[in-house]
Amino acid sequence: MRAQFNAFSKQIPLLYFILTSNSLAASYTFARFAPAWLSIYAPVMLSALCFLRAVWWLRARSRQFSDAEVLRHMRMTTVLAAALTLAFTTWGLLLYPYGDPYAQGQVVFYMALTVIGCVFCLMHLRPAALLVTLMANIPFILYFFFEGHASLRAMAVNLLLVSAAMVMILLVYSRDFERLVASQAETRRLSEDNFRIANCDSLTELANRRWFFTELDATLGVAKADGKGFAVGIIDLDGFKPVNDTYGHATGDRVLVEAARRLRAVCGGHASDQVTLARLGGDEFGFIYTGNPNATALDALNAAIQSALRQPFAIGASHALLGASIGVACYPSSSRDAEGLFERADYALYQVKRRQRGQMLVFSAEHEGEINAHRTLEHALQNADLDAELSLAFQPIIDVASGETTAFEALARWTHPTLGAVGPDAFIPAAERTGMIRQVTKTLLTKALAALKTWPEPLRLSFNLSAHDLSDAETAVQIIALINRSGVNPRRLDFEITETAIANDARQARAAAVTFKAMGVGISLDDFGTGYSSLSHVHKLPLDKLKIDRSFVTDIEHNGASLKIVKSLIALCADMGLTCIVEGVETEGQLRTLRALGCRAAQGYYYARPMSGDAVSAWLQPDAADNRAGARI
Ligand code: C2E
Ligand code: CA
Ligand code: CA
Repeated sequence: MRAQFNAFSKQIPLLYFILTSNSLAASYTFARFAPAWLSIYAPVMLSALCFLRAVWWLRARSRQFSDAEVLRHMRMTTVLAAALTLAFTTWGLLLYPYGDPYAQGQVVFYMALTVIGCVFCLMHLRPAALLVTLMANIPFILYFFFEGHASLRAMAVNLLLVSAAMVMILLVYSRDFERLVASQAETRRLSEDNFRIANCDSLTELANRRWFFTELDATLGVAKADGKGFAVGIIDLDGFKPVNDTYGHATGDRVLVEAARRLRAVCGGHASDQVTLARLGGDEFGFIYTGNPNATALDALNAAIQSALRQPFAIGASHALLGASIGVACYPSSSRDAEGLFERADYALYQVKRRQRGQMLVFSAEHEGEINAHRTLEHALQNADLDAELSLAFQPIIDVASGETTAFEALARWTHPTLGAVGPDAFIPAAERTGMIRQVTKTLLTKALAALKTWPEPLRLSFNLSAHDLSDAETAVQIIALINRSGVNPRRLDFEITETAIANDARQARAAAVTFKAMGVGISLDDFGTGYSSLSHVHKLPLDKLKIDRSFVTDIEHNGASLKIVKSLIALCADMGLTCIVEGVETEGQLRTLRALGCRAAQGYYYARPMSGDAVSAWLQPDAADNRAGARI
């Protein structure tokens, strides 16, 4: 109906033009014959009415009408069309008897032409067009038919036939128009559906990642124009992965749906519509906060999100406890473009997940400095001569009872021509970010295996693998090939892996570990106690050794909790048949405490700092071992 309204409203002013110009032409002719009230005043008044309506329609072009108004105006137009038809037809018929034959001919011409013109303009308003056709033509046809003159009768019959044809054309046209409009509406509905599907996350029914970035661009445009700030946030659910791994994807999905529902409730309720929310994928959600992104506002938003997500999630008969780590970047302080904002929010998220899970971190100038340092490092690494610049340091792992060195852990070192010595804590993550880690691992492992080959049996080598080294089958195959080619006995080798490797892709990491294990390589779980410290990881992996992180040793003499943790871990290892290595032993006091707890293997500055490959053979001299044993006991 709206489509009809739009179509005919454009033609109505033209209709009034046809009507008034035809009528005034007839009026001009009849001014000589008929009384003034009929030939002048009546048509002028009717034309004035038409003029006012025409002006109204011209003005209406720029207005938006509601559905109810459209309906009302269409009804009104039909009524008015009937009334005006009646008025002008009556006028024409009243005028007719006054004229001479020429003037009478003009009336016939006037009536026929006006009706056809007006019906043509009312094509889209079927009831009005039909009414005009019938109301104007029937009296006209009857009048002339019974007037008696043969040529008038012929005209009446002619008009009857033409009217019938016009009615048919009208009916066919309006049916086609309705079909066209219906098919346009269907197309629009389909494209709206497509739009919704393309921008909606089907699981949580939140907006999806694609929508999020479109919205981010739009928000940025508005903010730039208005000179206002806003914030972009990424929410990552803490503790979701274990739920997904333990209870399966169906349960994981239910948890996500519930988390999305709570987030929607929080964001919907937060200062009306200042927060828009989307699911970015996995257990990651994004938000755009269009209020003033000051510390108070962001803290309040954080508190609301945290308290919503910290409520237990029901899983069958039990409950899961989740939290949220949130990274935020603000326009314009963090970045001035959409990509930069999202990257920086992601960087803040990465930092908060590493250091203070369950909190919100807003990207700062300090982070910008870190990113620049990362870029420098990544660039240098990409252009490095890995074989020449990478080397290894070795730190002994000691049998606490005998003081004997049972193995060396290989620790990566990078000496860059201009940057100097770069620690592995900095360049290993850089290699992971740039995708160079596989190359770095291969270079280091080749060097480590070459060193091991020169060492006396049964001395072992412990080598650190990155989570990325375990994340695809091909890398595992390449590592195996390297070991085979080196000619060393794989049974003298241990791979140290961290829980992050398992958290990323448990199945693939396990598969890789099983493959290494099958060729005789031992598997150690590194830094235990710092990450997830999940017993299910200990259980699922084919482990031989567990390394207790040095953070527990640092304060073991003064912190009862650390002492108890180390004590239970040592007991756990004994129960599970794992060798337990305590890292980071720096003082005699620590060693004494550990010994009392039943610790059998240790590593740390107390025994030795990581040493160069050349220093290893000196370290292994029997007299050197005696000196060390003497010094320690
Ligand atoms: P990690 O595997 O926990 O290695 C032990 C780190 O603790 C080494 O730092 C070592 O120098 C240090 N350390 C040993 N004893 C003591 C002690 O008594 N006190 C203190 N404060 N520190 C001690 P480093 O060499 O800087 O390595 C840092 C981390 O970099 C390693 O931690 C490991 O995660 C990673 N990394 C080192 N080499 C490699 C490698 O070849 N590949 C991979 N993927 N990662 C490596
Ligand atoms: Ca290690
Ligand atoms: Ca470690």
